[in-house]
Amino acid sequence: MKFSLEAITRNNVRELKAYSSARDEFQDLETNNLFFDANENPFENGLNRYPDPHQCKLKEVYAKRKNLAVEQILFGNGSDEILDLLFRAFCQPREDAVLTMPPTYGMYTVLAHLNEIAIQEVSLTKDFSINTNAVLEGIQENTKLLFVCSPNNPSGNVLAEESITTLLNNFNGLVVIDEAYIDFSGSNSWVSQLDQYPNLVVTQTFSKAWGKAGIRLGACFASKEIIAILKRIKPPYNVNALTQNAALRALEENKLEHQLEVLQKEKERLSDALNKINIVKRVYPSDANFLLVQVDDAVQRYKELIQGGIVVRNRHGQMHCDQCLRITVGTAKQNNQLIKIIKEIS
Ligand SMILES: *Cc1c(COP(=O)(O)O)cnc(C)c1O
Repeated sequence: MKFSLEAITRNNVRELKAYSSARDEFQDLETNNLFFDANENPFENGLNRYPDPHQCKLKEVYAKRKNLAVEQILFGNGSDEILDLLFRAFCQPREDAVLTMPPTYGMYTVLAHLNEIAIQEVSLTKDFSINTNAVLEGIQENTKLLFVCSPNNPSGNVLAEESITTLLNNFNGLVVIDEAYIDFSGSNSWVSQLDQYPNLVVTQTFSKAWGKAGIRLGACFASKEIIAILKRIKPPYNVNALTQNAALRALEENKLEHQLEVLQKEKERLSDALNKINIVKRVYPSDANFLLVQVDDAVQRYKELIQGGIVVRNRHGQMHCDQCLRITVGTAKQNNQLIKIIKEIS
């Protein structure tokens, strides 16, 4: 058995030619050309032209930062769009399957249902590690995508490199590593391993560490061949001009480091404070910007927190998350308020 991109690509996608948009053929609006090709409104207001469908400027800056070729990057309207494109490129509705490892990000399941793709679930162990042998046993002929969320949402931990390497080496579909929280962890991104594994896909997002959830920008990193397929099926203008500009500004400003330091300290402080409150039974270690916190009664405490003006996420009911709330790390001031209210409830 050997990985073949050709073999796992859907027939209709293999044969599909990308829509060629006006801005595809002539995108350099900074020339002296006059543009009569896209039926745009000619009165300039800064946004009257279609955006660059290839996000050339943004990709150039981002590729340098990631030490990748421009052709190894695809941007999407959030990483959720990228995940959807992966389903649509590689999973044949009502025939293929994907494998997820609960408890994990709910979007994989939603997208599988939307695309009529079967879901195979192989739970993480109780300490939220990959059950590598069970995953390998669970993989079937029609399993096309394997979702690895690291750091994992909602457990917060980075998943073991050794387990992921085993999956990459023994699975002939795509291993999709969702690194939405990677910047909060001390671990290396799998982006640096792309040359080693033709079946590796990594996704990241501007929604978390970059502080730009409102612009909806996700990134996908993979081989040039995989990216070329995704580019063919993506909506031509999926990343709008406001988003491209905002992302360029964020990359330029580069406020990341300082905020990450603050949030790391706050996470430790919040974790310590929660551990001293008697309705808190357990605070799980976290490599992300949130804490999974087991309390005495999640439903009850969730309601009481809301009454106190504090909104958290109730994860009770998810695999291995009995009586757990997921709490995002806020600013010092916000965390103080959270701690105060939890103490009051307690
Ligand atoms: C928040 C989150 C994302 C981000 O999705 P966007 O569409 O980019 O906002 C992706 N994956 C996981 C696991 C997340 O928790």
